[in-house]
Amino acid sequence: MLLAALVAFTVGTATAAPGQKAYGTIEVPAGVDAALSIPVFVAHGAKAGPVLALVSGAHGTEYASIIALEKVIERLDPAALSGTVIVVPLLNINSFEKKVPHVNPIDNKSMNRFYPGNMSGTQTDRALFMMTKEVVDRSNYLIDLHGGDLDESLRPYSYWSPHDIAEQDRISREMVLAFGLDHIIISADRPKDPAASRYLDNTAALRGKPSITVEAGHAGTTDTDDIEVLANGCFNVMRYLKMLPGTVVPVANPVWIEKVETVASDQNGIFYPLVKRGSYVQQGMKIGYVTDYLSRPLFDARAPASGIVLYVNALPTITKGGTIANIGVVAKQ
Ligand SMILES: [Zn+2]
Repeated sequence: MLLAALVAFTVGTATAAPGQKAYGTIEVPAGVDAALSIPVFVAHGAKAGPVLALVSGAHGTEYASIIALEKVIERLDPAALSGTVIVVPLLNINSFEKKVPHVNPIDNKSMNRFYPGNMSGTQTDRALFMMTKEVVDRSNYLIDLHGGDLDESLRPYSYWSPHDIAEQDRISREMVLAFGLDHIIISADRPKDPAASRYLDNTAALRGKPSITVEAGHAGTTDTDDIEVLANGCFNVMRYLKMLPGTVVPVANPVWIEKVETVASDQNGIFYPLVKRGSYVQQGMKIGYVTDYLSRPLFDARAPASGIVLYVNALPTITKGGTIANIGVVAKQ
């Protein structure tokens, strides 16, 4: 394991001496479109230990996850830390500033679909290349934080992705249990090619770094419960990794979700939900309906499987191909 030696630690323009914090940016140079400065914080422990990366705001309007990492920055004390924490709380700044969900409005790309990135592409590609180089390659462990976007009413859950590497899978499983969310999606279908890893957690995993993704928050809200569950989860993982003193009580009986079924709209219209996030639904049950703009019924949305409503569209706006709900199918024990 790569242990942070007791010398200064640099990410982008942020250089922290042992026992110190540093604030800076990861500079993404201009290319076919504009340059981008991604804010980065480093807490470099007084004692040696592993490097943990915490990233949120790939989707810049998933506010609860962004504010959670702002709280982590406030609460991190390098004097008490063994190892180093890299925090990137707001990757997709243009999404945040322009209040555009899902994508970077500069190039209309999701900032969690184009890893490991490349320097000859558009801003998202170049930013993700720099994230791979400056954050993933510098860390030993990684947590990617998300939440329900502006149009998603979401109940909190984590993703655990086994990669058929026993030791790495064991550690990432222990990380997800230490983090503490009690619904865990097992995503076993992630890309295997490190040159086309797509997702941030997968980029780290394919480079040998145990990683998890966590989600809480919904529809533009910043509820204290959502922020605290995410911020506390990050500190729980630091304790699990022995970067902080104290013990962690892993979540005891999580709901393991083996498959996620998506209900999409086949037309543009107005969406009316009939279920709430976190509800259990039966296969075939009507979970909402869509009308045209003169209130005439277009179609009923029905649950494609029995399971938990992980999220349901939070807005009246629905467009052809847009997600109405994600249903999590509970793994058989
Ligand atoms: Zn997201």
